[in-house]
Amino acid sequence: MLTKIIREESIQEAKKYIEKSERFLILTHVAPDGDAMGSSLGLLHFLNEYGKDNVTVVVPSSYPSFYRWMPGAKEIIVHEKYTAYAEELIRDADVIFCLDFNEPRRVGKASAALLAAKGKKIMIDHHLDPAGFCRVTMSYPEISSTSEMIFRFICRMGLFDLINKQAAECIYTGMMTDTGAFTYNSNHPEIYTIISELIKKGIDKDLIYRRVYQVYSESRLQLMGYVLYEKMKVYPELKTALITLSQEELKRFHYTTGDTEGFVNLPLSIDGIELTAFIREDPDCVKISLRSVGDFPCNEFAIKYFNGGGHKNASGGEFYGSLPDAVAAFEKALQAFNPGKRIV
Ligand code: 5GP
Ligand code: MN
Repeated sequence: MLTKIIREESIQEAKKYIEKSERFLILTHVAPDGDAMGSSLGLLHFLNEYGKDNVTVVVPSSYPSFYRWMPGAKEIIVHEKYTAYAEELIRDADVIFCLDFNEPRRVGKASAALLAAKGKKIMIDHHLDPAGFCRVTMSYPEISSTSEMIFRFICRMGLFDLINKQAAECIYTGMMTDTGAFTYNSNHPEIYTIISELIKKGIDKDLIYRRVYQVYSESRLQLMGYVLYEKMKVYPELKTALITLSQEELKRFHYTTGDTEGFVNLPLSIDGIELTAFIREDPDCVKISLRSVGDFPCNEFAIKYFNGGGHKNASGGEFYGSLPDAVAAFEKALQAFNPGKRIV
């Protein structure tokens, strides 16, 4: 039996909208990660099983190829590629599920269509400070993945039996990826109660691990070797490490979406390092990812200096300027922020 974390009124209100609606749209954040994919596709399969045929998942931008195996992934509409169609779906939906994001700007160029849409919006998310743009807001930062929230939401509606193997595979994927394969934010015992239920639904958790973490290209591994050998800067007195990559370097190693996933975590394996940053030059902006162990609030740092947000131990943001300027801004911010001298 799971603890009742989600408010009963929210569950009942969302259930009512599901029962009486026909057209469903599931939307998640830009650069979808495993939890964005897992929660969206998990909910899709549940709704299909419930008898709702008109359900579409829209993502603002493309997702890494190692999520393409996920049941339903191939039918996802990428807003960046099929903008007009995606916006039509957003406009015409009776219900719009907003999964794994807390504010409209996290859906990038789809945000105007989302805000203008008349459909009932239901947020299911685990980021701090949800913006008030949804009819129903289920926001629980203490839960380590939105995918886990989808499981809890379905169970609380009394519809556990409608979680099929496909939904279970998607939910597990999101729970796994948002906890680094259960190596952080993963001490809550009920996580393992849920995994046990998912295994009973027929998932092969070891196979899911291999499909997500052991399917990289040769050049991606070479890129990893390169960043570790040549691109990692350690600031021992700040217990911090930084990795940077330019567009030119990414091209040299035939970069495709998802190739740098996990790079930010690598220096955390150095004894004594408590904060790591990965700064990547993207075509339209400079992207920063932050990870910490212990108390350093990555989200506060990302909000204050990099137009971003996220969780205490994992956050991200954007910088508008050159890569060297982003690095300079990071170093300056680190000196200025350093709350309570925790990482000195
Ligand atoms: P990642 O480093 O894997 O891209 O992101 C880690 C976490 O930080 C994400 O789960 C998300 O919560 C948050 N995050 C990443 N980038 C951004 C951003 O640009 N804006 C905001 N608000 N949050 C971000
Ligand atoms: Mn998430």
